[in-house]
Amino acid sequence: MAEILDGKVVAAQIRSEVAEGVARLKSRDVPVRLDVVLVGDDPASTTYVRMKQRDCEEVGIESRAHRFAADVSQEELAALVEELNGDTTVSGFFIQLPLPAGLEALPLVSAIDPSKDVDGLSPLSAGRLAVGLPSLLPCTPHGVIQLLKRSGAEIEGKEAVVIGRSNLVGKPLAQLLLRENTTVTICHSRTKNLPEVARRAELLVVAAGRKEMVGAEYVREGAIVVDVGIHAREGGGLVGDVRFEEVEPVASYISPVPGGVGPMTRAMLLYNTLEAARASSGL
Ligand code: NAD
Repeated sequence: MAEILDGKVVAAQIRSEVAEGVARLKSRDVPVRLDVVLVGDDPASTTYVRMKQRDCEEVGIESRAHRFAADVSQEELAALVEELNGDTTVSGFFIQLPLPAGLEALPLVSAIDPSKDVDGLSPLSAGRLAVGLPSLLPCTPHGVIQLLKRSGAEIEGKEAVVIGRSNLVGKPLAQLLLRENTTVTICHSRTKNLPEVARRAELLVVAAGRKEMVGAEYVREGAIVVDVGIHAREGGGLVGDVRFEEVEPVASYISPVPGGVGPMTRAMLLYNTLEAARASSGL
């Protein structure tokens, strides 16, 4: 029987710490504000933004959304990024991705001041992470590390395998795992003998974006298994990249979907907003 890496419980802890930190800053007249840029009317993006704004409200962070029609120009968005970079009342901001066709995300994300880059996804933030400089950390990978640490799962010195090499999850997670002194292997869609490589792992993190891909044949006895994947289940609900029922008896710890990494990602955005406000105020 594996121990459950309970993202709901750990995220609630983090939210309550953030709420305390926000109250402390506000009592010293430091604004704590998260802005979001939302372009077009994609229903998933609109829902995510609404959820993030509700999370902010719960911990006392002010939030504002800048909404644009899908035919907004690249220049208008670039001008907003500059404006938000220079606005001292904005602690941090992010652009909800993906952008509608015809708009390029990379130049916009690259223009975000690293001290306000609460998604931690700009090339500057990624570079700072890679060379060990302080930076705001990408929410999902940082959420995975916090989930492990706060659940008492020891990872120092362990053999870690990450399945997935995206800029959003796999690559920054590998950097953070190095920082935690694990020995990291990154796998991807061209990796040969994937189940065999995965079975080396004492810590297996799956972020392949393939519904229920990973079964017991990928998992070494006693491994810690973290499932980053999120997919709609036929008939309702969510499932991950891991076949939970099959892997749970083999693992020592396992994160469920839902209730594992998802709530952590949301909590780390709030954490980053507080960090950004704190750093800019010098308190
Ligand atoms: P992505 O599609 O950008 O990257 C997937 C990576 O997995 C790629 O590097 C690819 O090489 C690798 N991959 C794909 N198929 C593979 C296979 N069969 N074998 C081995 N490797 C394979 O996806 P992403 O943005 O990194 O997200 C991954 C998953 O995590 C998705 O399901 C996404 O919805 C989910 N996600 C969850 C959260 C959260 O908060 N829980 C946050 C971000 C992403």
